[in-house]
Amino acid sequence: MSQAVDLVRGALQLRDAQLLGAELAKLNHVLLDAQQRLFSLGAELLALQEQHFKAREELREMRETLAERSRYTLVEIGQGQMAYRSNNAPVLGAAIEPVLAQPQHYLCQQCWDIRGAKSILVLHLDAADGPVAICRNCRDGWMRADLIAR
Ligand SMILES: [Zn+2]
Repeated sequence: MSQAVDLVRGALQLRDAQLLGAELAKLNHVLLDAQQRLFSLGAELLALQEQHFKAREELREMRETLAERSRYTLVEIGQGQMAYRSNNAPVLGAAIEPVLAQPQHYLCQQCWDIRGAKSILVLHLDAADGPVAICRNCRDGWMRADLIAR
């Protein structure tokens, strides 16, 4: 009798072990899928973080550019000759006599708009042939600056 019970017990254990093995295989498969998904999400997160970083950097640069541009006004310095004139705002906190943040100057419009380079125009307002402005970065010659002299 006890031999029969042992045989039944053994058969049950064998069946339980086979069932357990099959369930463990399923569980293992689910875990592998979850792990793969996790790796995939990690890669997506990294890509999104890089995009976010680049977008923030672009935004910061655009704000700087906008702030820089707001310190200048596009003006005509001679007939058909354009330049950026500095907007001279007084320094905050200057007590009685307002102090200018920087001396009045003109930037070459072509250098700034086309090359993104700030190039201060050299003015020769007392030139024999009339006022001229020279950009040493982009022009061999000069441009008329009659309108500055007025
Ligand atoms: Zn220039």
